Amino acid sequence: MIRGRRAAGRIGTVYLVGAGPGDPGLLTLRGAELLGRADAVVYDRLIHPEVLRRARSGARLMFVGKQGGGQQVPQVEILELLVGQARLGRQVVRLKGGDPFVFGRGGEEALALAAAGIQFEVVPGVSSGFAAPASAAIPVTHRGISSNVTFASAQLAHGAPDWPHLARAGTLVLFMGARHLGHCAAALIAAGRAPTTPAAVVEAGTWEQQRVVDGALGNIAERADHAAIGSPALLVVGEVVSLRATLAALQRQGQLSTRRGDRRSTR
Ligand code: SAH
Repeated sequence: MIRGRRAAGRIGTVYLVGAGPGDPGLLTLRGAELLGRADAVVYDRLIHPEVLRRARSGARLMFVGKQGGGQQVPQVEILELLVGQARLGRQVVRLKGGDPFVFGRGGEEALALAAAGIQFEVVPGVSSGFAAPASAAIPVTHRGISSNVTFASAQLAHGAPDWPHLARAGTLVLFMGARHLGHCAAALIAAGRAPTTPAAVVEAGTWEQQRVVDGALGNIAERADHAAIGSPALLVVGEVVSLRATLAALQRQGQLSTRRGDRRSTR
């Protein structure tokens, strides 16, 4: 069907595909299928090489992320690239880490594609907001402990996060705060969250190199600093973090398995 459309000189479709949090086993079947027949794949950093290897041989792979502290390709150029590729009649997979609509500017890309008259489809992905805590043996909700979870970004285009609101979350999962953990923890405490609240930082959740630091809101920044935690990382705050002690012990004994370390069986 796709070949037929291309032959007829039609405009291609752009698929905004969530690549999942890291572990290539967490790519969706739909995402894998689309990668397998894409003409062009436009991808960010934080995409596992095994996921990229699913692209059709012969597909053009185009990296538009930040490399080694360098500049990210400006969003407007990414949009021009997507539109340009589609107008060449190509089937384009726009591959984004986690879920495309969770802090990934996928919404902006969808609006721009709509405005340019390009057909597009959104393929949800497993967000790191769910996967990184799970991989660190932290259930984000738990009956009797927390019945709500708030996903928030520490970095906003304008202004500061609504700390008083975030301080009241049952469970708070904070994105993009790796470099400002001290500031975020202090802001939550100043907004009323107890410094004794269990907290954890998950770095590179579900990747081979995943690391977890836990403690309490009052000391998590210092502990993460001591461990030299860097990006990508999520801060998880709430009583549910205390469940990790029990579940992680089972993980160590081998009773609770995670997919990390099982990588060879994922393909
Ligand atoms: N759309 C993505 C989030 C993009 S914003 C998603 O749904 O997961 C980028 C931020 O996501 C990072 O700064 C970090 O806070 C978080 N992140 C992405 N992948 C991660 C991972 N594997 N482990 C921990 N945090 C991650």
